[in-house]
Amino acid sequence: MVTSVGDRLHRVASGDLEDELFVGVRNGTTVCGLTEKKLHMPGVAERLGLPRCSACCKRLGIPLGTGAPFNQDIVEPQELS
Ligand SMILES: [Zn+2]
Repeated sequence: MVTSVGDRLHRVASGDLEDELFVGVRNGTTVCGLTEKKLHMPGVAERLGLPRCSACCKRLGIPLGTGAPFNQDIVEPQELS
């Protein structure tokens, strides 16, 4: 998910799902601790091309890189401690 700045891919830690298609999260908090009134899922091109947030990656224990982790077969933890 991206914040309104939209320059990094963050992982959502909590928030209210906007709708069943999971295109947005209201009052969301990212894994790295940012809070936003609205987080949104970027388009496919951005999902593949944006850098992942280094703080989110570190907390999740996944490698730094670009694009959403699930597009690179990186297994993410299901639960955050
Ligand atoms: Zn982040």
